[in-house]
Amino acid sequence: MIFDLQHFSLQDGEGIRTTVFLKGCNLHCFWCHNPESQSPLPELAFYPDRCIRCSACLQVCPAKKDGRLALHTQECTRCGGCAEECYAGALQLMGKEMSVEDIIKDILQDKDMYLSSGGGVTFSGGEPFMQPELLRQLLQACRQNGISTAVESALCIPYQVLEPLLPLIDRIICDIKTADCDAHRRATGQPNTLILQNIRRLACDGNSLLIRTPVIPGFNDAPEAIAAIASFVASLPGQHRYELLPFRNLCKGKYTALGRRFAASDYQTPSAETMDTLLATAAGCGIRCRINAAFI
Ligand code: SF4
Ligand code: SF4
Repeated sequence: MIFDLQHFSLQDGEGIRTTVFLKGCNLHCFWCHNPESQSPLPELAFYPDRCIRCSACLQVCPAKKDGRLALHTQECTRCGGCAEECYAGALQLMGKEMSVEDIIKDILQDKDMYLSSGGGVTFSGGEPFMQPELLRQLLQACRQNGISTAVESALCIPYQVLEPLLPLIDRIICDIKTADCDAHRRATGQPNTLILQNIRRLACDGNSLLIRTPVIPGFNDAPEAIAAIASFVASLPGQHRYELLPFRNLCKGKYTALGRRFAASDYQTPSAETMDTLLATAAGCGIRCRINAAFI
């Protein structure tokens, strides 16, 4: 089950890339900028400004009640019939089953560009390791076609699931959202213990990591919070890159379309001064770091 496939991506690793977004995540970060990634099931997004009130959706809805579409109700079976009928594009089904062959066929269209730019394919999510067999087959097919691979993961996954796939992955991109375990649990629904253990083990096993921190106002935008993360990164064996990603409030519309509340809807992007201070804090811990302003 994937929910998007983006060509010409420049933010998910080196060079020009195609990013394949796998659906389903075991964290629920309150600032998540891809809310459609969280559920492993398909979900309906509704954009009222595009609706031309033709009622085509209603005609096909098997769960309609009192003349109303079952959109965003318990009764909705996620059949996607309404979205198929909606020629105005007001209803969209987020998430679809795609075969490995079809995904690879799509990826291969840009093979020349990956090779000339030093790019490749990034598997993101959601949490791509929650579909380990699909991920394995996709990684293997990329390897057979000479395409470089990256996997973007929260790493809140047992190491036994990650380990067999590691020989097929050229770059792992992961997050440390906070070094504070209780704060991590409150913000994401899970403690950070397994994540930090996995990062250390990956580093000890010789993997070079791109580690990122989304900077969220009031959560981890204090120099002490970044210093704690950067000190952990500095303590890892090997060479790793570290990036700070300023929160951006660009996903409000997605939450509304999905019929959900966005807990960070009033949060502001951290100022340039704040980001510079945090970058200097991280650099002061002796790690290679930068601000990746284009990301979230
Ligand atoms: S996905 Fe199916 S059940 Fe849900 S609102 Fe659309 S047509 Fe109705
Ligand atoms: S099919 Fe689309 S455009 Fe027509 S009423 Fe339904 S949501 Fe609106």
